[in-house]
Amino acid sequence: MENAATRLEAVRSNIARACKPARRKPEDVTLIAVSKTHDAATIQPLIDAGQRVFGENRVQEAQGKWPALRAAHPDIELHLIGQLQSNKAEEAVALFDVIHSLDRPSLLTALAKAMDKAGKHVPCFVQVNIGDEPQKGGCPIADLPAFLEAVRASGIPLAGLMCIPPADTEAAPFFAFLAKLAADHGVDGLSMGMSGDYETAVMLGASYVRVGTALFGARD
Ligand SMILES: *Cc1c(COP(=O)(O)O)cnc(C)c1O
Repeated sequence: MENAATRLEAVRSNIARACKPARRKPEDVTLIAVSKTHDAATIQPLIDAGQRVFGENRVQEAQGKWPALRAAHPDIELHLIGQLQSNKAEEAVALFDVIHSLDRPSLLTALAKAMDKAGKHVPCFVQVNIGDEPQKGGCPIADLPAFLEAVRASGIPLAGLMCIPPADTEAAPFFAFLAKLAADHGVDGLSMGMSGDYETAVMLGASYVRVGTALFGARD
């Protein structure tokens, strides 16, 4: 059986390999270990193997396991990668170091208020509905210019753009499109790529990849 350290090493070397043709440096790509659904006992070996950046998709679940893990490892960085309800903005700001799912004006207002109240300015990625899928979260592409302007005016640090491409189709064109939108709007960071496609995302400019299954195995 592969252990956490072996899996981490494999993902890291895949990232380094994907950097080469793109003439990128591996240290310019941050690996977010997506630990949703996994308990502290499953996460601990990855921390022991040196991983420090983790991602969760639900505020409540993260509140249950991360305060204790972080007390033991204060250098851990926690990213919220899932959709966020405005009424959870204060809790999200209190717990997370980076938020990847800022996608609408009402959430922007709630987060700006929560950050001012907490005196903590959490960098946020603007999530883009890159495949224009009606059911999916993310800012509609047509609304992106105005929304980015509103984010910049709010004082919330803009970390970059984030996307989840449509399932069951080639992700590369969507990653390339997100990179183009970022370039067009003078945005630097790109949060894109999951277990099935993170190497492609790295070749196309991802600065953050969000990898769960390849590190922890399949979720229930
Ligand atoms: C679960 C999740 C991931 C990780 O998915 P894997 O396929 O397990 O790597 C990445 N991003 C988001 C937004 C997720 O919800």
